[in-house]
Amino acid sequence: MNTLTKSLLVVPILLALSSCARNPVTGRQDFVMMSEAQEVSIGLRQDILVKQQYRVYPSRALQDYVESVGQKVATRSHRPLLKYHYTVVDSPEINAFALPGGYIYVTRGILAYLNSEAELAAVLGHETGHVTARHGVRQQSASQAAQIGVTLASIFVPELGTNAGYNLTNMLGGALLSGYGREHELEADRLGADYLARSGYDPHAMINVVGVLKNQELFDTDIAKQEGREPRRYHGVFATHPDADTRLQQVVGESKSLEVANPYEGRDVFLRQIDGLTFNDSSDQGVVRNNVFSHGELGFSISFPSEWKVTNSPASISARSPDKLVSMQLKMDVKPTGTPTEYARRLTGGGSRVEPEEFNGLSAAIAYTPSTITGVTYLGSKTYIVQTVAKSPEVMDAQRNAVLNSMRSLHGMSEAERKKLRPLQVKIITVKTGDTYAELARRSPLGKNAESYLRLINAQYPKGEPTPGQSIKIID
Ligand SMILES: [Zn+2]
Repeated sequence: MNTLTKSLLVVPILLALSSCARNPVTGRQDFVMMSEAQEVSIGLRQDILVKQQYRVYPSRALQDYVESVGQKVATRSHRPLLKYHYTVVDSPEINAFALPGGYIYVTRGILAYLNSEAELAAVLGHETGHVTARHGVRQQSASQAAQIGVTLASIFVPELGTNAGYNLTNMLGGALLSGYGREHELEADRLGADYLARSGYDPHAMINVVGVLKNQELFDTDIAKQEGREPRRYHGVFATHPDADTRLQQVVGESKSLEVANPYEGRDVFLRQIDGLTFNDSSDQGVVRNNVFSHGELGFSISFPSEWKVTNSPASISARSPDKLVSMQLKMDVKPTGTPTEYARRLTGGGSRVEPEEFNGLSAAIAYTPSTITGVTYLGSKTYIVQTVAKSPEVMDAQRNAVLNSMRSLHGMSEAERKKLRPLQVKIITVKTGDTYAELARRSPLGKNAESYLRLINAQYPKGEPTPGQSIKIID
C-alpha cells in the first residue's frame, strides 16, 4: 500500500476522534469544547511550571534528536498542524508525559531503558496520542486550569532531590504523571502504534517498550520496598505483563493493518545518542557512593555509618541501621542569626542537653535526649540538621558512636572532592567473547543490584546474556 492510500485511510478515524471529543457524555460544557488556541495557551502556561520543577537536560544534541523523532511521529498524527514541543527533562524518574496543546516531555530516566529509535518513537507516539485525543484536556476543568498560577508548594530541601513529580501532580492533576486510566492509556497505545506504523517504525515497538518498562517496574517495586521509597514507574504501564495483556495486544495489533515493509529500528543511532547519559541521581542533586552522600551544588558531604541503608529519595536523605531500630534524617534550613547551640535548643525544646561542637572547622552543636541525637551544623548560608531517632534509649546507646561519627563527618567539599564527584553514566560498549552480565556487574558501580540493572536496561531481563559483537549499555 502506498503512503497516499494509507493517509486516506486515517481520515475516518480522525473524524471519529474529534467528534467523540466534542460530544462529552455528560453533556456539560467542559474543557473539550475549548478552542485549540485556548488549549495551546494552557499548555504554554503549564510548560513554564514544568520547567520550574524539572531542569531541561543539558545536552543540545540529545534534545535535538528527541525533538526530531517526535516531529516525525507528530506529522503523521491526527493533529499534524499543531506545533509540538519535545523536551528531555533531567530527572531519574522513569516517565513521559504530555500537556494539552502539544507539550511533551520524556525524562532522562526513561531513555536509559530504551534500546532503539523505534522504542523512543513508541514512547513519544503514546504521549502524542494523549495530545491528539485531548486526554489531558478532558482531565481538568477550564476553571481549574485557569487558576494554576506560579505559586509552587514549598518543597522540602528543593536542591536535594527531584520533588518535581509530586508537585506537578498536585498542580496539574494526578493524571499527568500517573496516567489517565486504563481506557485512555490503551487509546494512547493504539494511537502511538498507529503513528509508529505511519512513520515507518514497527508498531510492535510499543509492546517492547511496555515490556521493558513492566520488567523495570516489577524489579524496582522490590528495590523500592527495601529502600523505603516510592517505586519509579511509567504512567502507562498496566497491572498485567504486555505478553499476557490481550487488550494491549489487540489495540496495537490493529495498527498491523498499516504493516510497514522495512521498518526502521535505529538501534545503533539511538544508542550513540544516549552514550554518556546521566544515570540515576546526578551530582548536582546529590549522590550516594559507599554510604557517603555528597551534594555538588551545595558543596557538602556526609558519611553515614557503613552498614546502614542510605536512601536518597525525592523527599529526603535518610539512613537506617541494619536492625531498622535507629534512623537518621538529613534536613536543611536557612542559616538563622544566633549560634548552632541556640538553633538546636529551639529545635529540640527544653528536654534535651545541648553541647556546642565544631565539625571540621564548622560551627555546630549536638542535642541529646535518651533516644534521640540531633546534630546542627552551619555551612555557607545553610543549616544542616541530622535528626536521629532510636526505638529505645538502649538502642540509641548501642549506636551512639556510629551516629556521632557520622554527624561529625559533615564537611564542606574540597575542590578535589568536587572533581571526583561525577554522576553515573550510560556507556555503550561492544560485547567481547566471554562477557556475561554477571562479569560486567562485578566491574559496575551499581552495587549489589548491578546484574539486574544491566539486564533491565538492555531488555534482557531476567535471564538474557549479551552476544559478542553486540552493542550494549553499561553503567560507568
Ligand atoms: Zn499515557
